[in-house]
Amino acid sequence: MKSYRKELWYNTPNRRAFINITSEVNKALKESCIKEGLCLVNAMHITASVFINDDEQGLHRDFERWLEKLAPEKPYDQYDHNGYEDNGDAHLKRQVMGREVVVAITNGALDFGPWEQIFYGEFDGKRKKRVLVKIIGE
Ligand code: ZN
Repeated sequence: MKSYRKELWYNTPNRRAFINITSEVNKALKESCIKEGLCLVNAMHITASVFINDDEQGLHRDFERWLEKLAPEKPYDQYDHNGYEDNGDAHLKRQVMGREVVVAITNGALDFGPWEQIFYGEFDGKRKKRVLVKIIGE
């Protein structure tokens, strides 16, 4: 069995962002030379997510509004976590949107359903953060 590991780095100018990382995951898959297997993609930080959904700007605004209703950023003092930090909301948003995705690899390609794309969800940005891509198979 072969395995391949790669880190993808992001530094978003805003506190929150959704970034389509599908092409970078595809690039990692080509570099791995793995044709049949599994591809894990996970955020390496507890205030960021990796998830699969549609690359549609209206949906992304809906995610932003929905997450702000569930866990508003402000006021900061509503969260017990916010003593030395101000990112209590970001931890909760990440929990809802998930840590990782696993995608099947078939014939050297990511075996997606219709419209599926992989996104990095940032909830406490403006600093360098990582996504792990781990691919195993043959
Ligand atoms: Zn924190």
